[in-house]
Amino acid sequence: MSLLSSVALAPRDPILGLNEAFAADPRPDKVNLGVGVYRDAQGRLPLLRSVREAEQRLVGEAQPRGYLPIDGLAAYDKAVQALLFGEQAAVLAAGRVVTAQSVGGTSALKIGADFLKRTLPAARVAISDPSWENHRAIFESAGFEVGVYPYYDAATHGVNFAGMLDGLRALHVGDIVVLHACCHNPTGVDLDGAQWAQVIEVLRERELVPFLDMAYQGFGEGNEGDAAVVRMFADSGLAVFVANSFSKSFSLYGERVGALSVVTADADEAERVRSQLKRVIRADYSNPPTHGAMLVSTVLNTPELRALWEEDLGDMRDRIRSMRRGLVARIAAHGDPRDFSFIVRQRGMFSYSGLNAEQVERLREEFGIYAVSSGRICVAALNDANLDAVATAIAAVSA
Ligand code: PMP
Repeated sequence: MSLLSSVALAPRDPILGLNEAFAADPRPDKVNLGVGVYRDAQGRLPLLRSVREAEQRLVGEAQPRGYLPIDGLAAYDKAVQALLFGEQAAVLAAGRVVTAQSVGGTSALKIGADFLKRTLPAARVAISDPSWENHRAIFESAGFEVGVYPYYDAATHGVNFAGMLDGLRALHVGDIVVLHACCHNPTGVDLDGAQWAQVIEVLRERELVPFLDMAYQGFGEGNEGDAAVVRMFADSGLAVFVANSFSKSFSLYGERVGALSVVTADADEAERVRSQLKRVIRADYSNPPTHGAMLVSTVLNTPELRALWEEDLGDMRDRIRSMRRGLVARIAAHGDPRDFSFIVRQRGMFSYSGLNAEQVERLREEFGIYAVSSGRICVAALNDANLDAVATAIAAVSA
Protein backbone atom coordinates (compact mmCIF):
# COMPACT_ATOMS: atom_id res chain seq x y z
CA MET A 1 0.00 0.00 0.00
CA SER A 2 1.37 3.41 -0.91
CA LEU A 3 1.87 6.15 1.65
CA LEU A 4 -0.62 8.29 -0.24
CA SER A 5 -3.19 5.61 -0.99
CA SER A 6 -5.79 7.28 1.23
CA VAL A 7 -5.66 10.57 -0.67
CA ALA A 8 -9.11 11.27 -2.08
CA LEU A 9 -9.65 12.84 -5.48
CA ALA A 10 -10.55 16.50 -4.95
CA PRO A 11 -13.57 17.82 -6.86
CA ARG A 12 -12.74 19.52 -10.13
CA ASP A 13 -12.90 23.30 -10.23
CA PRO A 14 -16.35 23.90 -11.76
CA ILE A 15 -15.25 26.69 -14.10
CA LEU A 16 -12.07 24.99 -15.27
CA GLY A 17 -14.10 21.81 -15.79
CA LEU A 18 -16.40 23.83 -18.03
CA ASN A 19 -13.38 24.95 -20.07
CA GLU A 20 -12.32 21.36 -20.62
CA ALA A 21 -15.79 20.41 -21.81
CA PHE A 22 -15.78 23.47 -24.10
CA ALA A 23 -12.40 22.56 -25.58
CA ALA A 24 -13.65 19.04 -26.33
CA ASP A 25 -16.85 20.27 -28.03
CA PRO A 26 -16.47 19.84 -31.83
CA ARG A 27 -19.21 22.34 -32.80
CA PRO A 28 -17.60 25.25 -34.71
CA ASP A 29 -20.03 27.89 -33.45
CA LYS A 30 -19.66 27.02 -29.74
CA VAL A 31 -19.38 29.97 -27.31
CA ASN A 32 -17.68 29.98 -23.91
CA LEU A 33 -19.42 32.37 -21.50
CA GLY A 34 -18.03 30.52 -18.48
CA VAL A 35 -14.60 31.77 -17.60
CA GLY A 36 -14.10 35.36 -16.31
CA VAL A 37 -11.78 36.70 -18.95
CA TYR A 38 -12.24 39.79 -21.14
CA ARG A 39 -12.12 39.12 -24.86
CA ASP A 40 -12.03 41.80 -27.55
CA ALA A 41 -14.47 42.31 -30.45
CA GLN A 42 -12.68 39.53 -32.36
CA GLY A 43 -12.94 37.13 -29.42
CA ARG A 44 -9.22 37.37 -28.60
CA LEU A 45 -7.52 37.94 -25.27
CA PRO A 46 -6.04 41.42 -25.72
CA LEU A 47 -2.44 42.50 -25.18
CA LEU A 48 -2.93 46.14 -24.22
CA ARG A 49 -0.93 48.76 -26.17
CA SER A 50 0.38 50.29 -22.95
CA VAL A 51 1.62 46.90 -21.75
CA ARG A 52 3.30 46.10 -25.07
CA GLU A 53 5.04 49.49 -25.05
CA ALA A 54 6.10 49.18 -21.39
CA GLU A 55 7.49 45.72 -22.16
CA GLN A 56 9.53 47.07 -25.07
CA ARG A 57 10.95 49.82 -22.89
CA LEU A 58 11.84 47.34 -20.15
CA VAL A 59 13.62 45.08 -22.64
CA GLY A 60 15.54 48.10 -23.92
CA GLU A 61 16.77 48.88 -20.43
CA ALA A 62 17.05 45.27 -19.28
CA GLN A 63 17.94 44.98 -15.61
CA PRO A 64 19.34 42.07 -13.60
CA ARG A 65 16.64 40.23 -11.63
CA GLY A 66 17.48 40.42 -7.96
CA TYR A 67 14.94 39.65 -5.27
CA LEU A 68 12.32 42.32 -4.70
CA PRO A 69 11.69 43.47 -1.14
CA ILE A 70 9.21 41.21 0.71
CA ASP A 71 6.43 43.77 0.25
CA GLY A 72 7.30 44.32 -3.41
CA LEU A 73 8.48 47.03 -5.76
CA ALA A 74 8.22 50.40 -3.99
CA ALA A 75 7.23 52.35 -7.12
CA TYR A 76 4.48 49.82 -7.77
CA ASP A 77 3.10 49.93 -4.23
CA LYS A 78 3.04 53.72 -4.35
CA ALA A 79 1.22 53.76 -7.70
CA VAL A 80 -1.33 51.26 -6.36
CA GLN A 81 -2.00 53.51 -3.38
CA ALA A 82 -2.61 56.53 -5.60
CA LEU A 83 -4.94 54.55 -7.87
CA LEU A 84 -6.98 53.20 -4.95
CA PHE A 85 -7.01 56.10 -2.49
CA GLY A 86 -6.30 59.12 -4.74
CA GLU A 87 -3.04 61.01 -5.23
CA GLN A 88 -3.93 63.59 -2.59
CA ALA A 89 -5.56 61.26 -0.05
CA ALA A 90 -5.30 62.33 3.59
CA VAL A 91 -4.72 58.70 4.67
CA LEU A 92 -1.67 58.54 2.38
CA ALA A 93 -0.26 61.89 3.51
CA ALA A 94 -0.60 60.69 7.11
CA GLY A 95 1.28 57.45 6.33
CA ARG A 96 -1.70 55.39 7.47
CA VAL A 97 -1.80 52.97 4.52
CA VAL A 98 0.39 49.89 4.15
CA THR A 99 0.54 48.33 0.68
CA ALA A 100 2.23 45.06 -0.22
CA GLN A 101 2.52 43.78 -3.79
CA SER A 102 0.91 40.35 -4.08
CA VAL A 103 0.62 37.41 -6.47
CA GLY A 104 -2.61 38.59 -8.09
CA GLY A 105 -5.75 39.48 -6.16
CA THR A 106 -5.95 35.92 -4.82
CA SER A 107 -2.78 36.18 -2.75
CA ALA A 108 -3.75 39.68 -1.57
CA LEU A 109 -6.82 38.05 -0.04
CA LYS A 110 -4.76 35.18 1.37
CA ILE A 111 -2.07 37.41 2.93
CA GLY A 112 -4.81 39.52 4.50
CA ALA A 113 -6.63 36.41 5.72
CA ASP A 114 -3.47 34.91 7.27
CA PHE A 115 -2.63 38.21 8.96
CA LEU A 116 -6.19 38.57 10.30
CA LYS A 117 -6.19 34.99 11.64
CA ARG A 118 -3.12 35.85 13.71
CA THR A 119 -4.56 39.18 14.82
CA LEU A 120 -8.22 38.25 15.40
CA PRO A 121 -8.16 34.48 15.96
CA ALA A 122 -11.76 34.28 17.22
CA ALA A 123 -13.31 36.25 14.35
CA ARG A 124 -15.53 34.65 11.75
CA VAL A 125 -15.77 35.70 8.12
CA ALA A 126 -18.92 36.63 6.20
CA ILE A 127 -19.02 36.65 2.39
CA SER A 128 -21.89 37.70 0.15
CA ASP A 129 -24.52 35.18 -0.92
CA PRO A 130 -23.46 34.39 -3.61
CA SER A 131 -19.78 35.32 -3.96
CA TRP A 132 -16.70 34.47 -5.97
CA GLU A 133 -16.32 30.80 -5.07
CA ASN A 134 -12.67 31.18 -4.03
CA HIS A 135 -13.52 33.62 -1.21
CA ARG A 136 -14.77 30.78 0.96
CA ALA A 137 -11.80 28.55 0.12
CA ILE A 138 -9.24 31.27 0.82
CA PHE A 139 -10.62 32.26 4.22
CA GLU A 140 -11.26 28.67 5.25
CA SER A 141 -7.71 27.75 4.33
CA ALA A 142 -6.55 30.54 6.65
CA GLY A 143 -8.49 28.78 9.42
CA PHE A 144 -11.66 30.87 9.53
CA GLU A 145 -15.23 29.73 9.79
CA VAL A 146 -16.95 31.29 6.77
CA GLY A 147 -20.63 32.22 6.65
CA VAL A 148 -22.71 34.35 4.29
CA TYR A 149 -24.74 37.54 4.45
CA PRO A 150 -27.76 37.97 2.13
CA TYR A 151 -26.91 39.84 -1.05
CA TYR A 152 -28.60 38.91 -4.31
CA ASP A 153 -32.36 39.05 -4.75
CA ALA A 154 -33.38 36.83 -7.66
CA ALA A 155 -36.89 38.29 -7.73
CA THR A 156 -35.70 41.85 -8.44
CA HIS A 157 -32.36 40.96 -10.08
CA GLY A 158 -30.97 43.47 -7.57
CA VAL A 159 -29.61 43.58 -4.04
CA ASN A 160 -31.66 42.41 -1.07
CA PHE A 161 -30.40 45.44 0.78
CA ALA A 162 -32.61 45.21 3.87
CA GLY A 163 -31.61 41.54 4.20
CA MET A 164 -27.97 42.44 3.76
CA LEU A 165 -28.06 45.05 6.55
CA ASP A 166 -29.90 42.63 8.86
CA GLY A 167 -27.36 39.93 8.05
CA LEU A 168 -24.49 42.28 8.89
CA ARG A 169 -26.17 43.40 12.13
CA ALA A 170 -26.44 39.77 13.19
CA LEU A 171 -22.67 39.18 12.99
CA HIS A 172 -20.48 39.11 16.11
CA VAL A 173 -18.37 42.09 17.10
CA GLY A 174 -15.00 41.80 15.38
CA ASP A 175 -16.17 39.58 12.52
CA ILE A 176 -14.69 40.15 9.08
CA VAL A 177 -16.94 41.13 6.17
CA VAL A 178 -15.76 40.53 2.61
CA LEU A 179 -17.30 43.08 0.24
CA HIS A 180 -16.96 43.44 -3.54
CA ALA A 181 -15.93 47.07 -4.10
CA CYS A 182 -17.35 47.09 -7.65
CA CYS A 183 -18.58 44.78 -10.41
CA HIS A 184 -19.79 42.04 -8.07
CA ASN A 185 -18.75 38.55 -9.15
CA PRO A 186 -20.89 36.56 -9.97
CA THR A 187 -24.03 38.73 -10.09
CA GLY A 188 -22.93 42.05 -11.68
CA VAL A 189 -25.11 43.81 -9.09
CA ASP A 190 -23.51 46.59 -7.01
CA LEU A 191 -24.58 48.86 -4.16
CA ASP A 192 -25.00 52.61 -4.78
CA GLY A 193 -23.20 55.31 -2.80
CA ALA A 194 -26.01 55.85 -0.29
CA GLN A 195 -26.19 52.10 0.38
CA TRP A 196 -22.43 51.93 0.91
CA ALA A 197 -22.73 54.74 3.48
CA GLN A 198 -25.33 52.68 5.37
CA VAL A 199 -23.15 49.57 5.23
CA ILE A 200 -20.25 51.56 6.69
CA GLU A 201 -22.50 52.73 9.53
CA VAL A 202 -23.53 49.16 10.37
CA LEU A 203 -19.91 47.99 10.26
CA ARG A 204 -18.99 50.81 12.62
CA GLU A 205 -21.88 50.08 15.03
CA ARG A 206 -21.13 46.36 15.12
CA GLU A 207 -17.34 46.85 15.11
CA LEU A 208 -16.96 44.67 12.02
CA VAL A 209 -13.84 44.56 9.87
CA PRO A 210 -14.32 45.41 6.17
CA PHE A 211 -12.25 43.49 3.63
CA LEU A 212 -12.84 45.01 0.20
CA ASP A 213 -12.08 42.93 -2.86
CA MET A 214 -11.54 45.00 -5.98
CA ALA A 215 -10.69 42.72 -8.89
CA TYR A 216 -12.42 44.84 -11.57
CA GLN A 217 -11.47 48.47 -10.93
CA GLY A 218 -12.26 50.49 -14.05
CA PHE A 219 -14.91 48.13 -15.41
CA GLY A 220 -17.81 49.75 -13.56
CA GLU A 221 -17.60 53.55 -13.66
CA GLY A 222 -13.91 53.94 -14.55
CA ASN A 223 -10.90 54.02 -12.23
CA GLU A 224 -11.95 57.04 -10.21
CA GLY A 225 -15.64 56.19 -10.01
CA ASP A 226 -14.95 52.64 -8.87
CA ALA A 227 -12.36 53.78 -6.33
CA ALA A 228 -14.97 56.03 -4.69
CA VAL A 229 -16.12 53.08 -2.57
CA VAL A 230 -12.58 52.42 -1.34
CA ARG A 231 -12.21 56.11 -0.50
CA MET A 232 -15.46 56.18 1.47
CA PHE A 233 -14.14 53.32 3.57
CA ALA A 234 -10.72 54.94 3.93
CA ASP A 235 -12.36 58.12 5.24
CA SER A 236 -14.60 56.19 7.65
CA GLY A 237 -11.94 55.83 10.31
CA LEU A 238 -12.34 52.04 10.32
CA ALA A 239 -9.43 49.67 9.79
CA VAL A 240 -9.94 48.61 6.17
CA PHE A 241 -8.38 45.81 4.11
CA VAL A 242 -8.32 46.16 0.31
CA ALA A 243 -7.26 43.41 -2.10
CA ASN A 244 -6.85 44.65 -5.66
CA SER A 245 -5.91 42.93 -8.88
CA PHE A 246 -4.63 44.02 -12.30
CA SER A 247 -5.38 40.68 -13.93
CA LYS A 248 -8.42 42.08 -15.76
CA SER A 249 -7.76 45.80 -15.99
CA PHE A 250 -4.32 45.25 -17.57
CA SER A 251 -5.20 41.92 -19.21
CA LEU A 252 -2.22 40.48 -17.32
CA TYR A 253 -3.89 37.34 -15.98
CA GLY A 254 -0.81 35.13 -16.07
CA GLU A 255 1.61 37.69 -14.65
CA ARG A 256 -0.13 37.59 -11.26
CA VAL A 257 -0.17 41.27 -10.27
CA GLY A 258 -2.16 42.53 -7.32
CA ALA A 259 -1.72 44.15 -3.92
CA LEU A 260 -3.02 44.17 -0.38
CA SER A 261 -3.52 47.57 1.24
CA VAL A 262 -4.45 48.11 4.88
CA VAL A 263 -5.74 51.43 6.18
CA THR A 264 -4.55 51.77 9.77
CA ALA A 265 -5.10 54.33 12.56
CA ASP A 266 -1.72 56.08 12.32
CA ALA A 267 1.77 55.81 10.84
CA ASP A 268 3.12 53.90 13.82
CA GLU A 269 0.40 51.26 13.57
CA ALA A 270 1.02 51.11 9.82
CA GLU A 271 4.66 50.15 10.36
CA ARG A 272 3.71 47.45 12.86
CA VAL A 273 1.12 46.03 10.47
CA ARG A 274 3.67 46.14 7.64
CA SER A 275 6.16 44.17 9.72
CA GLN A 276 3.55 41.45 10.35
CA LEU A 277 2.42 41.32 6.71
CA LYS A 278 6.04 40.80 5.76
CA ARG A 279 6.28 37.86 8.15
CA VAL A 280 3.25 36.27 6.51
CA ILE A 281 4.63 36.80 3.01
CA ARG A 282 8.12 35.62 3.91
CA ALA A 283 6.80 32.28 5.07
CA ASP A 284 4.45 31.95 2.11
CA TYR A 285 6.37 32.85 -1.06
CA SER A 286 9.24 34.93 0.37
CA ASN A 287 8.91 37.84 -2.05
CA PRO A 288 6.84 38.60 -5.14
CA PRO A 289 7.83 38.24 -8.81
CA THR A 290 9.30 41.17 -10.73
CA HIS A 291 7.94 41.30 -14.24
CA GLY A 292 4.23 42.07 -13.89
CA ALA A 293 4.80 44.70 -11.23
CA MET A 294 7.46 46.36 -13.41
CA LEU A 295 5.00 46.50 -16.31
CA VAL A 296 2.15 47.95 -14.25
CA SER A 297 4.39 50.37 -12.42
CA THR A 298 5.94 51.56 -15.71
CA VAL A 299 2.49 52.17 -17.19
CA LEU A 300 1.05 53.88 -14.12
CA ASN A 301 4.13 56.07 -13.60
CA THR A 302 4.62 57.14 -17.26
CA PRO A 303 2.01 59.73 -18.26
CA GLU A 304 1.72 58.80 -21.96
CA LEU A 305 1.48 55.06 -21.21
CA ARG A 306 -1.02 55.70 -18.48
CA ALA A 307 -3.18 57.70 -20.88
CA LEU A 308 -3.05 54.80 -23.36
CA TRP A 309 -4.04 52.36 -20.62
CA GLU A 310 -6.96 54.50 -19.48
CA GLU A 311 -8.12 54.58 -23.12
CA ASP A 312 -7.86 50.80 -23.49
CA LEU A 313 -9.62 50.22 -20.19
CA GLY A 314 -12.37 52.62 -21.26
CA ASP A 315 -12.72 50.70 -24.53
CA MET A 316 -13.08 47.40 -22.65
CA ARG A 317 -15.70 48.92 -20.36
CA ASP A 318 -17.65 50.47 -23.25
CA ARG A 319 -17.53 47.28 -25.29
CA ILE A 320 -18.97 45.25 -22.43
CA ARG A 321 -21.74 47.82 -21.97
CA SER A 322 -22.59 47.74 -25.63
CA MET A 323 -22.73 43.93 -25.52
CA ARG A 324 -25.15 44.18 -22.58
CA ARG A 325 -27.41 46.50 -24.60
CA GLY A 326 -27.07 44.32 -27.69
CA LEU A 327 -27.96 41.16 -25.81
CA VAL A 328 -31.09 42.67 -24.26
CA ALA A 329 -32.23 44.16 -27.58
CA ARG A 330 -31.70 40.91 -29.47
CA ILE A 331 -33.48 38.78 -26.88
CA ALA A 332 -36.44 41.18 -27.12
CA ALA A 333 -36.26 41.00 -30.93
CA HIS A 334 -36.80 37.25 -30.63
CA GLY A 335 -40.20 38.03 -29.20
CA ASP A 336 -39.31 37.08 -25.64
CA PRO A 337 -41.89 38.98 -23.62
CA ARG A 338 -39.83 39.03 -20.42
CA ASP A 339 -37.84 42.05 -19.39
CA PHE A 340 -34.09 41.39 -19.51
CA SER A 341 -33.18 45.06 -19.04
CA PHE A 342 -31.58 44.23 -15.68
CA ILE A 343 -28.62 42.94 -17.74
CA VAL A 344 -27.94 46.54 -18.82
CA ARG A 345 -27.99 47.77 -15.23
CA GLN A 346 -25.48 45.16 -14.06
CA ARG A 347 -21.81 46.12 -14.08
CA GLY A 348 -18.50 44.51 -14.86
CA MET A 349 -17.78 41.33 -16.74
CA PHE A 350 -20.58 39.19 -15.36
CA SER A 351 -24.31 38.89 -15.44
CA TYR A 352 -26.56 36.72 -13.39
CA SER A 353 -28.75 36.00 -16.39
CA GLY A 354 -31.64 34.58 -14.36
CA LEU A 355 -31.30 31.22 -16.18
CA ASN A 356 -31.52 28.15 -13.96
CA ALA A 357 -29.24 25.10 -14.02
CA GLU A 358 -31.56 23.21 -16.34
CA GLN A 359 -31.69 26.08 -18.82
CA VAL A 360 -27.90 26.42 -18.66
CA GLU A 361 -27.63 22.72 -19.48
CA ARG A 362 -29.93 23.17 -22.49
CA LEU A 363 -27.78 26.08 -23.66
CA ARG A 364 -24.79 23.77 -23.66
CA GLU A 365 -26.40 20.67 -25.10
CA GLU A 366 -28.61 22.20 -27.75
CA PHE A 367 -26.64 25.31 -28.67
CA GLY A 368 -22.99 24.74 -27.65
CA ILE A 369 -23.14 27.78 -25.36
CA TYR A 370 -21.29 27.27 -22.09
CA ALA A 371 -22.25 29.14 -18.91
CA VAL A 372 -21.89 28.48 -15.19
CA SER A 373 -24.78 26.44 -13.75
CA SER A 374 -25.75 29.37 -11.47
CA GLY A 375 -26.73 31.22 -14.65
CA ARG A 376 -23.66 33.47 -14.53
CA ILE A 377 -22.56 34.50 -18.00
CA CYS A 378 -19.40 36.41 -18.89
CA VAL A 379 -20.70 39.33 -20.95
CA ALA A 380 -17.09 40.19 -21.86
CA ALA A 381 -16.98 37.04 -24.02
CA LEU A 382 -19.80 38.30 -26.28
CA ASN A 383 -19.05 39.91 -29.65
CA ASP A 384 -20.91 40.82 -32.82
CA ALA A 385 -20.22 37.37 -34.29
CA ASN A 386 -21.77 35.38 -31.42
CA LEU A 387 -24.31 37.82 -29.94
CA ASP A 388 -27.23 36.79 -32.10
CA ALA A 389 -26.66 33.08 -31.52
CA VAL A 390 -26.49 33.63 -27.75
CA ALA A 391 -29.65 35.79 -27.72
CA THR A 392 -31.51 33.23 -29.84
CA ALA A 393 -30.47 30.43 -27.50
CA ILE A 394 -31.36 32.34 -24.33
CA ALA A 395 -34.77 33.24 -25.76
CA ALA A 396 -35.30 29.58 -26.74
CA VAL A 397 -34.36 28.00 -23.40
CA SER A 398 -36.18 30.55 -21.27
CA ALA A 399 -39.40 30.48 -23.33
N1 PMP B 1 -11.67 38.47 -6.51
C1 PMP B 1 -12.63 38.33 -7.42
C2 PMP B 1 -14.00 38.76 -7.09
C3 PMP B 1 -12.34 37.76 -8.66
O1 PMP B 1 -13.32 37.60 -9.55
C4 PMP B 1 -11.02 37.36 -8.94
C5 PMP B 1 -10.62 36.77 -10.26
N2 PMP B 1 -11.50 35.94 -10.87
C6 PMP B 1 -10.05 37.54 -7.95
C7 PMP B 1 -10.41 38.11 -6.76
C8 PMP B 1 -8.64 37.08 -8.13
O2 PMP B 1 -7.91 37.77 -9.02
P1 PMP B 1 -6.51 37.24 -9.55
O3 PMP B 1 -6.77 36.45 -10.76
O4 PMP B 1 -5.74 38.49 -9.78
O5 PMP B 1 -5.88 36.42 -8.46
